[in-house]
Amino acid sequence: AAHSVGFIGLGNMGAYMASNLLSSGVSVKAFDLNPEAVNDLKQKGATVADSVESMTDCETIITMLPSSPHVQATVTTLLNAGWEGKTWIDSSTIDPIVSKNLGEALAKEGKGKIDAPVSGGVKGAAAGTLTFMVGGESSTLDAVKPYLETMGANIVHCGANGSGQTAKLCNNLAMAIQMVGTAEALNMGDSLGLDPKILAGIMNTSTSRCWSSDSYNPYPGVLEGVPAGNDYEGGFGSSLMLKDLGLATSAAGAVKSATPLGNATKEIYTMMESMDMGKKDFGAVLQFLKGNCGN
Ligand code: NAD
Repeated sequence: AAHSVGFIGLGNMGAYMASNLLSSGVSVKAFDLNPEAVNDLKQKGATVADSVESMTDCETIITMLPSSPHVQATVTTLLNAGWEGKTWIDSSTIDPIVSKNLGEALAKEGKGKIDAPVSGGVKGAAAGTLTFMVGGESSTLDAVKPYLETMGANIVHCGANGSGQTAKLCNNLAMAIQMVGTAEALNMGDSLGLDPKILAGIMNTSTSRCWSSDSYNPYPGVLEGVPAGNDYEGGFGSSLMLKDLGLATSAAGAVKSATPLGNATKEIYTMMESMDMGKKDFGAVLQFLKGNCGN
């Protein structure tokens, strides 16, 4: 094929990931619905595609799209257009059941597919230090591992087709619940007159320590360089967290796995969305609990 990698979805994450591929000398053809995003990548040496259909000559396709319907539509379009390539890497966070079905549909056409959602955020995407949670055949992973290594520092094979998405959603489910729990405790302490810094220090050396308390504390001023100190800008948006909680609770529901706290947490982020807090980092749940919902 003429191009090694076709990259579809050049948003907050994808633009950096595709740049890292280009910097390590990979030939990249890029597409996004947003022409500005495509133009930016052209400056960095990518070939530009004006539609998904014109990427049939890409050996490997990487998608970094918002959610399940976008990925599903892209796979269908490219297969119908006669895609000549071999391997599909989907790094978007999507429904594990949809992901598994896409893998099976691609396998029927003789194509390999891995789901490879990431953690590490925009910072990790920029630095090329993402963690990839991979589901699919080992042979498919081995064939594209050099690409993943230019974008990430950790590549973990989680199991069969779809299991990378399952790992990602389980992680974000626990992370969201821990964030709400941490915010609830910090707000309660504050309301009872306790200094949030002292309380956070106690939590971080006691049994409630977690990433949301010791590395991403939602109480402004407790930690430097986290979104809480920057009016909750530049982090992981509450609406993306709501999307992941929707995916997690729906995947859990499909196999009758109970998620009582996941459901409650999803409702909290739904309320935040309806109060126009969707763009704020998910730690802004602390302000929501305080009743400070204005922007
Ligand atoms: P984003 O919204 O910034 O980017 C998505 C891009 O896809 C946009 O540029 C949009 O124009 C493009 N797009 C949408 N539909 C398209 C289509 N049909 N064809 C071509 N382009 C299309 O999102 P993001 O923050 O880059 O996240 C991408 C994925 O990664 C999501 O699934 C998200 O949950 C996941 N993720 C994000 C983060 C983060 O910190 N932002 C961290 C880990 C995982």
